[in-house]
Amino acid sequence: MKYKDFRNFKIERNCTKKYNRYRSYLPYLGEDFKHRCAYCNMHDETITENYRVDHFIPQTVLINTDREGLICDYNNLMYCCPKCNSTKSSQYKGNIHDGSYNNELFYNPVEVDYNQIFYRNEYGGISSEDPKGKDMIVNLKLFSPIYHFSFLIEEITEVLEKLNQKIESTTDIYEKEKYNEAYRRLVSFLLKIRGLFNSSYYNNSIKRNNGQ
Ligand SMILES: [Zn+2]
Repeated sequence: MKYKDFRNFKIERNCTKKYNRYRSYLPYLGEDFKHRCAYCNMHDETITENYRVDHFIPQTVLINTDREGLICDYNNLMYCCPKCNSTKSSQYKGNIHDGSYNNELFYNPVEVDYNQIFYRNEYGGISSEDPKGKDMIVNLKLFSPIYHFSFLIEEITEVLEKLNQKIESTTDIYEKEKYNEAYRRLVSFLLKIRGLFNSSYYNNSIKRNNGQ
């Protein structure tokens, strides 16, 4: 069941700079992608690690071909969280010689409106009714609990901000105390969800580093 849209903005490429090192584009990608991962939509403030530059058509496919220029081509670069970047890795399907920016395994996050493909379900997870969208959830491991927790963290933070406004604007002492109590309870719940997110996020990293 749909609970919310997947994204609440449209990704637009505005960078006109040219660099020889693709990593130089990272701050521009951050701005154009509103600091959210192109694939899972997680905000870059959710984790302490830096976000990565993802190649929509992977570098390994482009290297030593006549399309090598795409390694530093802004249109082939995506702002990406470390999880999606390492999971997507060199996954590719298509013909690199067709002159396109396509990777048939994935919908292009800039050209395709992900709200038509994905949505947030009643548990905060990422769902899709679209066959290729469903494959993407598997290929990018978007079913991982970290994406439920990161979504929940954002939802709770939003409610906390609203509660804070209420606390500041209310003059009635009794009302104010009620809001304060709700605020305190919600903060302690947020800390629990944060803990679940951190343990789930970093446990997976340890497993991967051990080659499991
Ligand atoms: Zn991601």
